Amino acid sequence: MADLDIRDLHVQVEEKVILKGVNLQLSVGEIHAIMGPNGSGKSTLANVLMGNPFYQVTSGEVFYKGEDLLAMAPDERARKGLFIAFQYPVSITGVTMASFLRAAVSARRGYKQELMPVAEFSKLLRSKVEALKIDPEVPGRYVNDGFSGGEKKRAEILQMAMLEPQIAFMDETDSGLDIDSVKVVADGILRMYDEARGGMGVLMITHYSRILQFLRPHHVHIMYDGRIVVSGGPELAEELEQHGYEGIRQQFEVVASEVQEDGAVRRAGKVFWVVH
Ligand code: ADP
Ligand code: MG
Repeated sequence: MADLDIRDLHVQVEEKVILKGVNLQLSVGEIHAIMGPNGSGKSTLANVLMGNPFYQVTSGEVFYKGEDLLAMAPDERARKGLFIAFQYPVSITGVTMASFLRAAVSARRGYKQELMPVAEFSKLLRSKVEALKIDPEVPGRYVNDGFSGGEKKRAEILQMAMLEPQIAFMDETDSGLDIDSVKVVADGILRMYDEARGGMGVLMITHYSRILQFLRPHHVHIMYDGRIVVSGGPELAEELEQHGYEGIRQQFEVVASEVQEDGAVRRAGKVFWVVH
């Protein structure tokens, strides 16, 4: 069984069905990318995996190292090595990046009441800030407060580097970055990947293939209308760049008239998929 095993996952928000049967297997040591047009459900998937209570799982299962992930609280998921870099990081005025990171790293490392010793923490923080070419003033600033789009994305990467996740979900971490910053971010991820004791898995959600040119994912999946409709290797990202999402839309859009009485959509005599 893969370390993260998502089986036929259905998710809705209020009455709106967003994920319509997602299947994905990802193990530590693998880099996966999910691409797909806006509104296809990519952020929903990442949020559900991290335990955002806003989304209701209506059916399906997710196992993390053989355990029922959906039964775990978000903090338990984080302590067990799952991490999300948000598409839209929030700011927390009054809390510095350094104190936020110290609390988070302490929890991740199993400290109970006390925090990680400040000297040890500061040394770790300094080394990560340097390696990721982050402005040394950032740890002293309030979390994401007044940060530019690019600074917020880099702050997410800093958080990731500090927490040393086993599986990281990265939601459009490359969006809004100029090409040099994309390279810095990709290099940072690859360094974490190479240096991770026990290995690291990455699920990179992205619109653009440019970060994938650096990351070279082992698997690329395309999400469309709440489902993963195609999976392949890095060449899939290049193909998508050439043909755009319109090609995917034409290929995978199911029109109501195609849905037969049993809920199946058949094309060329094969069951294309079953509408739930
Ligand atoms: P993506 O990340 O692929 O752009 P999302 O997962 O953000 O897609 O959204 C998928 C669909 O779910 C969209 O139609 C979006 O409007 C809807 N959706 C996502 N989050 C919410 C929410 N909090 N409330 C209502 N609808 C939502
Ligand atoms: Mg999104």
